[in-house]
Amino acid sequence: MLVVSEEVCREVVGRDDAFTAVENVFAAMAKGDAYNFPVIREAIGYADALYGFKSGFDRQGLALGLKSGGYWPGNIDKGLTNHQSTVFLFDPDTGQLRALVGGNYLTAVRTAAASAVSISHLARKDSKVLGMVGAGHQAAFQLRAAAEQRDFERVVAWNLHAEMLESLRGVADDLGLPFDVVEREKLGAEADVIITITSAHEALLMKEWIKPGTHLACMGTDTKGKQELDPALIAAAKVFTDEVAQSITIGECQHAIAENLILEKDIVPIGAVINGTEGGRMSAEEITIFDGTGVGLQDLAVASVAAGLAESLGKAQRISL
Ligand code: NAD
Repeated sequence: MLVVSEEVCREVVGRDDAFTAVENVFAAMAKGDAYNFPVIREAIGYADALYGFKSGFDRQGLALGLKSGGYWPGNIDKGLTNHQSTVFLFDPDTGQLRALVGGNYLTAVRTAAASAVSISHLARKDSKVLGMVGAGHQAAFQLRAAAEQRDFERVVAWNLHAEMLESLRGVADDLGLPFDVVEREKLGAEADVIITITSAHEALLMKEWIKPGTHLACMGTDTKGKQELDPALIAAAKVFTDEVAQSITIGECQHAIAENLILEKDIVPIGAVINGTEGGRMSAEEITIFDGTGVGLQDLAVASVAAGLAESLGKAQRISL
């Protein structure tokens, strides 16, 4: 069995690797070659923690396994990241444990890859202004991955906790992109592509603030009760997702569905756009939304890449059970 540490994952898995792995697995899901098992997520009644599993099987990429982990709010005081996860990969031919892979960096890089895939397939080619809503741990990864998809000239950003925006400004500086902190209405009026990546439980962006032709990658809502967008905005847009079942239950579309503003059949799996069986953006005026809920197969895809690269580069530890 291989053990691939967080540090080695960071060394070997780049944004390009994650993009390709996530794009391929979304495509495999839409073809019915890969599927996610039901998600388990529980408040364990200890340390205020939320703990669970995301799992699945990709017959095309031969990735079988699970990501186990969750959210420990007290970790920050211990100098640890609040979100903790580990990926277990199994040999689909024998069921034997093939690899244990650190999941923290991979979660960030695969989540950023998902919104980057959506920008690549759905944003207008002439998009120039990138809007960032959120400035936490994931936001920096999101900004770096998005910046590679279009010739952005500027970043406009908003965060509830304004002081957190300075570290995101550092990322923009590093990318050579001017960075302006703005109010949400202005962000909507200026941005061609918007990424939302917050823990909000109410709409942060209203329909009337968003200009025609915008693409939104809505990445923060991954649990029942969370929300980032006005449901009327969802209803006015063409909506895509990683997995429809998650979108309507734990993703951003849960609210528009509950209010009967959209139907499940209105939501297009992005894999179908990647495969060419469904159209993507139909006009320069259309608003497109990607509801990125985060699926276990993304984790398995990037963890498989990490295990393969770490093994071939001699950076994985090998142990016997
Ligand atoms: P973080 O704790 O580092 O940052 C949280 C962010 O949300 C900060 O910008 C904070 O200012 C903002 N925020 C907190 N409460 C808010 C509120 N009430 N209203 C508006 N903004 C608020 O978290 P993170 O690791 O950056 O994750 C951000 C979100 O993304 C979380 O909800 C997390 O569960 C989600 N996430 C989704 C995926 C996915 O695949 N879709 C993957 C990882 C994380």
